[in-house]
Amino acid sequence: MTATTPTKTVQIDNFIGGEYVKGKSGKTFETINPATGQVHGHVALGTADDINDAVMAATEAFERGPWARMSVQERAAVVHRIGDLILERKDELARAETLDTGKPISESSTGDIPRAAQNFHFFAQFASSYVEEAFVPSPMEMHVAVREPVGVCGLITPWNLPLYLATWKIAPALMMGNSIVLKPAEWTPYTAYLLADICAKAGVPKGVFNIVNGFGADAAGEALTVHPGVRSISFTGETSTGRAIMKNAAATLKKLSFELGGKGANIIFDDANLDEAIETSVRAAYRNQGQICLAGSRLFVHKDAYKKVVDALVERVKNIKVGDPLDPKTQMGAMISKEHMEKVLTYIEHGKKEGKLLCGGERLTNLGDGYFIAPTMFEGLGIDSKLLKEEIFGPVLPVVPFDSEEQAIEYANSTPYGLSCSIWSENVNRCHRVSKGIRSGLVWVNCWFARDLRTPFGGQKSSGVGREGGRYSLEFFSEAKTISYKYSK
Ligand code: NAD
Repeated sequence: MTATTPTKTVQIDNFIGGEYVKGKSGKTFETINPATGQVHGHVALGTADDINDAVMAATEAFERGPWARMSVQERAAVVHRIGDLILERKDELARAETLDTGKPISESSTGDIPRAAQNFHFFAQFASSYVEEAFVPSPMEMHVAVREPVGVCGLITPWNLPLYLATWKIAPALMMGNSIVLKPAEWTPYTAYLLADICAKAGVPKGVFNIVNGFGADAAGEALTVHPGVRSISFTGETSTGRAIMKNAAATLKKLSFELGGKGANIIFDDANLDEAIETSVRAAYRNQGQICLAGSRLFVHKDAYKKVVDALVERVKNIKVGDPLDPKTQMGAMISKEHMEKVLTYIEHGKKEGKLLCGGERLTNLGDGYFIAPTMFEGLGIDSKLLKEEIFGPVLPVVPFDSEEQAIEYANSTPYGLSCSIWSENVNRCHRVSKGIRSGLVWVNCWFARDLRTPFGGQKSSGVGREGGRYSLEFFSEAKTISYKYSK
């Protein structure tokens, strides 16, 4: 079925000082519906001038506005209301997310948007019970460690989970009393644009939440990272972009938090509950068209279970329903852009030369001009193949057999990334040994994508710097201050 684009295009402005505004240059850029390849919106092209205006508005709000001076309970009421309004507008937001990203509407409406609401509900509640410390070395002396807002926080977000990941940063930044300038990914600005209205209606004061749209390098994104008025940058995106931001932010010594790329190992031992491992491995590799940093994008299977697992997987993967993302029955939608689709197809062509194609392996042109790729599996690739080392960020799964626990650990550790992995085995001691052996920020044992928002989230090695989640987010979005008291008799 060919996907359709609504005939009316949307106009997406910046949001500065509580108002929707055009870019100062007057220029716009197009946003494309990946399911059709057609323009579905015109976006204000933000530049360093717009970033400067947004930082000024955020600074004014921070220095003189009410937000940083409110009680935690007052802020929590507003932040909680944002979550409620997201749920009230769930269908509109889910549709916007699907038009921008090409992801199935079933995922936007049951995954991305509810999770965006949950981010606000969670941090409103969690920050309200955050405990500050007092140290009392003698009856005449006390040292209190308090947390204060950082000031103006720059947030830079990617296109794969646009509202989900932006709100994961916005909610804790707001709860700690900061002002924000958000630079959404250029390919997916729509839901952030709608969120600005929601924040205003929920009672976020003018200037506390600002959005500047535009591109990254040599553009709005970079301008945010070098602006002296911005005290911190929370960034999610590619590892190479993280490096550029760290360099650019050095001159103004900003606080940095980076959630970067991943190349998750999914390890299935022969003593695993294979049915469950197989079902979950399909989701881990192909959800969101494989465009998830946490994807199980390398599958390692013990040699004694290899044939059974691979045969069953190929059968399931061939039956994944790829199609119009707005159709509720669609399981896999379109790749984010033509450029990204072509990058993924290059990896597929490379895989065909080096290994054996098990299924997929092509663009699906029967779906019109959209950027659809058939879910693809390879075997027979060497462990040093670039399909096993580099982040493809698409529906491409290489499968490799292993002999022993030691080899599974060695394979898992054989990329520069260290974000997440899954281990499947009914032997708890083995699961523990392998968990300890793998260098990654998250280890899932007999599961994938299980999350408790209080836990630290982030990557080791080239997958990140710092952690988000629970108190880790609250601490990143605040500064510790020690106030010491001495009493006189
Ligand atoms: P990207 O790095 O290309 O872009 C992310 C954002 O950074 C965009 O808003 C972009 O405009 C901006 N940007 C680009 N260059 C910049 C610069 N020099 N200065 C400032 N801003 C700049 O990433 P992407 O392609 O949008 O997202 C996909 C990547 O994100 C993948 O590598 C994926 O693994 C990663 N990711 C990581 C996590 C995580 O939690 N670790 C979550 C989601 C996505």
